[in-house]
Amino acid sequence: MRGINSVFRLSVIVAAGLPLAAVASESARRPAAAPVTVDESNFAYPYEKVFDYYIIEAWRSLDNPVPAYTPEMVARHTELVGRLRWVAPTASGNQAMVLGRTPGWPKNPAFPQDPEIPPQNIYGYQITDPSAKGPKIKMVLVSGNHATEFTGNWVLEGMVNFLAGSDPRAVFLRGTAVFYVYPDVNPEGRYQAVQRINLKAAPDPNAGTNGCYRGNPELYAAGARDHNRAWTTSGRFSTIDTLTAAIKKDTGGRADYSWDMHGPQDVGNWRSPLIEARLNAYANALLKREPDVVRCGPPGNFKRNVENGPPGKFSLWAASEEGLNVTYPYTYEPGGWTRERLLESGRNLALALHDVLTAAED
Ligand SMILES: [Zn+2]
Repeated sequence: MRGINSVFRLSVIVAAGLPLAAVASESARRPAAAPVTVDESNFAYPYEKVFDYYIIEAWRSLDNPVPAYTPEMVARHTELVGRLRWVAPTASGNQAMVLGRTPGWPKNPAFPQDPEIPPQNIYGYQITDPSAKGPKIKMVLVSGNHATEFTGNWVLEGMVNFLAGSDPRAVFLRGTAVFYVYPDVNPEGRYQAVQRINLKAAPDPNAGTNGCYRGNPELYAAGARDHNRAWTTSGRFSTIDTLTAAIKKDTGGRADYSWDMHGPQDVGNWRSPLIEARLNAYANALLKREPDVVRCGPPGNFKRNVENGPPGKFSLWAASEEGLNVTYPYTYEPGGWTRERLLESGRNLALALHDVLTAAED
């Protein structure tokens, strides 16, 4: 039953996306005489077609069940923003903004209802004004680490739509900073989550029992279950290897800020393994923009236990010398909010940076 419904809805999305590929490739060939303002309807996307597509069982009790964010939506949104001349492939991506492919996963005969997982695209792109030269602030944005945490993708989409849009503050940010966007860093995990593939097929007997599915087939096969504990591995997981190499190459091996977007949590919060990042001007701007979203760890008392966390998290890899040398690495855990509120919080993550950069100019 689940299968028929999923396939039908997926085919609607894929069909709707087809003509766009042609439009996108045509606009890529056009010379760079770009519009001054962005047609915001670029970002109008028939979300209602997927709104009820899949609501995570564990989150049905939320006042506002979290709408799904499917692999097709990642592809479609990348293509939409990719039409703008200030959105471009990164150094490691091709013209379609694809960094690489996941290996895919065969059908498991023990679970005949579960489909195979076809190889998935791994996307990445950058947002910056190509005509603004000179050194720029670097901010890395990732989401999808935990496969069922669709909230993170809505936050990322809100942030990207703002950064790529016409707002004068976004124009300023594009001239001052470069944003490296990796919208789904666990594509097979997300595919699996959206298809409701039975994670108990994994060799780890505990995988998936809490409804908060965190891995992907490649991890489960190796007895690992959490994609956000694998970022310091090398040579073990192909998707992690592809992404760590790509993000290093794209950024030149260091960045000023990074966001890893997750959720939902109650209450919404953000965190950093580094005390300086919890106290800097950006942290203060965030607290002003989002007074209801709590800062974790010292100097407050909220969730002190997540101050550093177990090794292998994206934020720790980002902060490390062997990783990305990020000065201010952050993790975002939005609440179980409406889609509109999630999009708004993404805008606020960008606006807080604008606050900091313009205050410095005064
Ligand atoms: Zn998470």
